[in-house]
Amino acid sequence: MHEASVKDITVLGSTGSIGLSTVDVVERHPEDFRLVALTANQDVDTLFDQCLRLRPAYAAMADERSAETLARRLKAAGSQTEVDSGVAGLERMASLPEVDAVMAAIVGAAGLMPALAAVRAGKRVLLANKEALVMSGELFIDEVRAHGAELLPIDSEHNAVFQCLPPDFGCGLRAVGVDRILLTASGGPFRQLSADQLERVTPEQACAHPNWEMGRKISVDSATLMNKGLEVIEACWLFGAAPDQVEVIIHPQSIVHSLVSYTDGSVLDQLGNPDMRTPIAHALGWPRRIESGVRTLDLVEVAHLAFEAPDESRFPCLRLARQALEAGGTASATLNAANEEAVRSFLEQEIGFMQIPETIEYTLRQADIVAARDLDTVLAADRQARALAGEFLRRCRGHA
Ligand code: NAD
Ligand code: MG
Repeated sequence: MHEASVKDITVLGSTGSIGLSTVDVVERHPEDFRLVALTANQDVDTLFDQCLRLRPAYAAMADERSAETLARRLKAAGSQTEVDSGVAGLERMASLPEVDAVMAAIVGAAGLMPALAAVRAGKRVLLANKEALVMSGELFIDEVRAHGAELLPIDSEHNAVFQCLPPDFGCGLRAVGVDRILLTASGGPFRQLSADQLERVTPEQACAHPNWEMGRKISVDSATLMNKGLEVIEACWLFGAAPDQVEVIIHPQSIVHSLVSYTDGSVLDQLGNPDMRTPIAHALGWPRRIESGVRTLDLVEVAHLAFEAPDESRFPCLRLARQALEAGGTASATLNAANEEAVRSFLEQEIGFMQIPETIEYTLRQADIVAARDLDTVLAADRQARALAGEFLRRCRGHA
């Protein structure tokens, strides 16, 4: 029945930007991959269409009422897909015995428990959900080791770094001659705006990224540069890098996806058109290379590659992320939770763009930062940060 060469896949967050790109790559290789389970939060319409077209054995929705609606509609349409619900349902999808690889593409802290379930089941975990790793850091990496899971980065920068590192980088970056990791950042849609102009930008402008089409939360993170801040933290955990080994460099074209600098002066990089199907195909097929549907890079058409230093005075989120990384313990979970609350409030037009870093700074100052002993401690830090950020946001709205 089960051909040894076919990989069975769960896509957590199949209705999102990364989820859709994953389905696109998988559908190009029907001989190699099979979609076993798809999940979403509330987007019944998209998940319903995916279930009819792709016929997964299972689908799960975090939101219970959405799951009921999906189950009813699928039944009426004669579908065989079995519907599950809630966080427990997502965790089951992530740890199904027949599944080989799990794409973790839920946005935000909501993705932590399902991603961990995949890790604990020893799966190949394709990690797009950077917030999960930022929150839980060493605990997450320890679980990967303990359960023999395989963690492959989907974030384009980290996927690029992974491609530029030698296979034995796990024994330590210095030991394999790596000096620094250079993460590239597009700079987002507001790269050239003055501090005054930044005060007045709208959610629509923030979500209109020049090079990438992404979910709304990561689009705002790209505009504040918090996305790069989260990625610095992510890189430290993925590659065992010290904070001062990870540098950020602005590269507006998003062609060079990141670089690794070696002690002998060599700098290796990975280039490509900005399309997430490249890192997704890389991680799905690894160590094989598979077709992704991405157009080959035309360097003559690109002609120039530009680089500049980031400006932390206009984009304080980068500094705040580094501050949390240096503080250690639960500080990164606090940073992430405060950011999620502030971004949601900005998207709902309750606060201005520059109040995002203000909310995070306030929360980091007020929160108890303790050693991240266990998951409960991390989840408590996440809750406390949301409560503190909530207080600050209420005050902001009061003044609006
Ligand atoms: P998105 O908003 O487009 O999709 C999010 C997905 O998660 C959807 O399927 C949604 O239904 C699901 N979801 C949302 N809230 C949920 C909840 N509470 N419980 C369960 N499921 C929930 O987001 P995206 O742009 O695809 O990003 C997904 C993740 O990948 C993020 O962590 C992001 O930082 C990361 N990432 C995205 C890109 C990109 O190009 N989009 C690039 C690099 C990394
Ligand atoms: Mg990225």
